[in-house]
Amino acid sequence: MGAHVIKLAKRMEDVKESPTLAITAKAKAMKAKGWDVIDFGAGEPDFDTPLNIKEAAIKAIKAGFTKYTAVGGTDELKDAIINKFKRDNGLDYTRDEILVSCGGKQSFFNLSLAFFEKGDEVIIPAPYWVSYPVMVAISGAKPVIINGREENGFKITPEEFSDAITGSTKAIVINSPSNPTGAAYTPEELKAITDIAVKKGVFIISDEIYEKLCYDNHPFVSIASFSEEVKRQTITLNGVSKTYSMTGWRIGYAAGPKELIKAMTNIQSQSTSNPTSISQKAAVEALNGAQDAVEEMRIEFDKRRKVIVNGLNAIKGIRCMLPPGSFYVFPNISKVLKKRFNGKAINSSADLAEFLLEEAEVAVVPGEAFGAEGHIRMAYATSMENITEGLKRIGEAVEKMG
Ligand SMILES: *Cc1c(COP(=O)(O)O)cnc(C)c1O
Repeated sequence: MGAHVIKLAKRMEDVKESPTLAITAKAKAMKAKGWDVIDFGAGEPDFDTPLNIKEAAIKAIKAGFTKYTAVGGTDELKDAIINKFKRDNGLDYTRDEILVSCGGKQSFFNLSLAFFEKGDEVIIPAPYWVSYPVMVAISGAKPVIINGREENGFKITPEEFSDAITGSTKAIVINSPSNPTGAAYTPEELKAITDIAVKKGVFIISDEIYEKLCYDNHPFVSIASFSEEVKRQTITLNGVSKTYSMTGWRIGYAAGPKELIKAMTNIQSQSTSNPTSISQKAAVEALNGAQDAVEEMRIEFDKRRKVIVNGLNAIKGIRCMLPPGSFYVFPNISKVLKKRFNGKAINSSADLAEFLLEEAEVAVVPGEAFGAEGHIRMAYATSMENITEGLKRIGEAVEKMG
């Protein structure tokens, strides 16, 4: 019979399941079956959401704050975000320059649909967050990938940026500190990039979700704060997911020119409407309340960062830079590839990830997913005990390869 053949839209050729979520799902399924999997795959902090934030949500529920809010977020939350930009970044925004979404991811999606179209090019430095090229492609625009070389700490140089600009370039995406590499640009490097962007009229999308996770006194600077001119052509994305360990609450935000924010809000109004009312109350408490938990989490991440980098570099064939930000490391595993295990060749980062999951019960994400074959991404958002045990298992598994 076969009467019901599902013919998907052509755009689905560009849309695949997020590979980071795919590996996490496989690791979770193995755990559910009783396997003792150590998960370096997940892209979220392992800490609980701080109690004061959870209590603000409970209070909101009890007070009946459970209805639709304004599409782009409550005034109360917008004001908390405005205060945050002022306090942390020296930036002045007004309510009509802020959009609250169901995560920074939705803000980016709204931006893509509102700002890009067929014929536009958007520069995305690799290794990149998996969703950037896909969201740009859905808009019809062309993602232009330029390679942040490992020798340069996985960052692009101003020259590399300049060389990639064409008459069709509409924007560049900067994510510093970075997922997946942990790289972070210095203020001088960012300044050089913004100088070019201003001169060539290229819009900057600055994803600052890992702002609060910088180590070794790496100075964080919000790109829009360089000058009024830069601010006029920058859209900043941020959110509470990573800073306050609030991934499941789904609150992120964007700040930028009001015409663009208005258009992004219109897209959101015709898709999801407002982000969850209860989560917005929690986010107000996160941004306005005590900030001690943020620093406590950062200090713990910093300890783990050193342990994981040292442990990886002690494994023969693996090389890993000590990254200045976020909670990921991005070791080079190219020397481990081309080896074999039980007669099976391990040729790619995806093969290695599968091998590690099956043989060592350790979940990592193949670098291929981030546009950087020859690497794997490991999140150190898991306990020190798990990190130590995981490193031991990886070392033993690599040893077994011939
Ligand atoms: C986690 C993450 C985000 C946003 O996450 P949300 O939970 O949607 O706010 C954005 N950019 C990068 C690079 C991330 O890693």
